[in-house]
Amino acid sequence: MNVVVVGAGLAGLTAAADLVAAGVEVTVLEARERVGGRTHGIEVAPGSWADAGAAYLGDRHTALLALLAELDLKTTPTVTTGGSRFALGGDGDRTSSGRFPPLSAVALGELFESLEELTRQVRADAPWLSVDADRLDGRTAADWAGEHLRHPDARLFFPLFLGEMMAADPADVSVLHLAFYLRSGGGIRYLNAFAGGAQDSRVDGGAHQLCERLAARLGERVRLGTPVRAVHQDGDGVTVVARTGEFRADAAVIAVPPLLADAIEHRPGPPAPRSGGRVAPGCAVKVHLIYPTPLWREQGLSGWSVSEHGPLLSTVDDSPADGAVGVLTGFVTGREAHRFAALPAAEQRAQALAQAERLFPGLPAPIACHVTDWINQDYSRGCYAALFGPGDWPRLGPGLTAPHRRVHWAGTETSTEFFGLMEGAIRSGHRVAAEIKKSYGRRDDHV
Ligand SMILES: Cc1cc2nc3c(=O)[nH]c(=O)nc-3n(C[C@H](O)[C@H](O)[C@H](O)COP(=O)(O)OP(=O)(O)OC[C@H]3O[C@@H](n4cnc5c(N)ncnc54)[C@H](O)[C@@H]3O)c2cc1C
Repeated sequence: MNVVVVGAGLAGLTAAADLVAAGVEVTVLEARERVGGRTHGIEVAPGSWADAGAAYLGDRHTALLALLAELDLKTTPTVTTGGSRFALGGDGDRTSSGRFPPLSAVALGELFESLEELTRQVRADAPWLSVDADRLDGRTAADWAGEHLRHPDARLFFPLFLGEMMAADPADVSVLHLAFYLRSGGGIRYLNAFAGGAQDSRVDGGAHQLCERLAARLGERVRLGTPVRAVHQDGDGVTVVARTGEFRADAAVIAVPPLLADAIEHRPGPPAPRSGGRVAPGCAVKVHLIYPTPLWREQGLSGWSVSEHGPLLSTVDDSPADGAVGVLTGFVTGREAHRFAALPAAEQRAQALAQAERLFPGLPAPIACHVTDWINQDYSRGCYAALFGPGDWPRLGPGLTAPHRRVHWAGTETSTEFFGLMEGAIRSGHRVAAEIKKSYGRRDDHV
């Protein structure tokens, strides 16, 4: 039995590793000249790495933690010690002792209660089958905010929260998707929390090492620089057509984001598209400002900030545990990410530096500035994950994991558990490998 896996992100490589362990012949075809997909490391000092893509994880990410242990990788806690900086609501920049923004506690409390109530209304395993699915699916998160959020502080904070959590503009996601995303990720409190929550830790040395180590084990089975254009099926198997040639297999796994899965030509065509409709790319640009040391700590600050105006809507201290340099990561998300991504590099740098200096007075110019634009990457088409708009879940949900004959689907967007996160990607990889072993095991004794 042999299987072609399309995409060498966490989902594709997890699936490939499981299949190889079961004795299946596997070829992984990856469009880029690197593995990792939405995990990606940038070297910020010799031998020291920061996460340009996915970074944070928590204790409920059990498949990810198991993979880290298997690959002999460690985690390092997210920095939370020190004061936070806020530039919200026209009161000037402020320092607060915790992470809670200096806005009306009542208004934000009500906002979070409303979101929790929404979260309770959706079925995590099949959001389109939730009791009130039609109503929740019929409008966007922006519509919902317009109807429900009366207090200006709640109106101010909601898009910032959505940007940070989902890299989404409220106009891009249905209320159903918002509620599903929060539920799938463990609930609003878990998703939003550093210590003890989904952002508790990072992978020491960078999350990209997960895919690099998986790929190293797979060796020559992984072919880089091999974008797949088409998948043709006949009675005996599949032919996967890549730029560099054709690959014949008994089955294929497509482990790419939904907007890119639809860019692959399928013959025969699948019963339903993988995206289409209102599915939008997540909008995130990450900015890394590199300093000789984490200088903000000397002023009793954690590096955490939230700003009403961009480009850096939030910042966090992502300094490597080895202490080689100080790394301040800025998140540019939602609508602001589109504006920022369209600027020339020099202007991006100037705007990012000016804001960092305003937020952290006395901070000198950084020794380096790295901008990673995920919106305009051909083989990601947005991040953190695809955003489902009104009408998308009822249309796409039922076919999310259903194989199209010999073509099987993986990727974080096929996982209703921890959708959009590394954990969801890894779970989808295990799921698809088990699915293949089960369905072809009956036809082939080797599996
Ligand atoms: C800025 C950013 C921050 C994030 N933060 C977090 C976080 O803190 N915690 C967390 O858990 N998650 C986070 N995520 C999300 C996480 O990175 C993803 O959920 C996960 O990595 C997705 O893995 P995947 O294998 O499903 O898809 P991908 O990583 O997108 O892998 C798909 C692979 O397919 C390849 N490909 C695409 N098209 C083709 C084609 N036609 N032919 C061949 N190959 C193709 C791509 O190059 C890619 O390597 C973040 C993502 C980003 C970008």
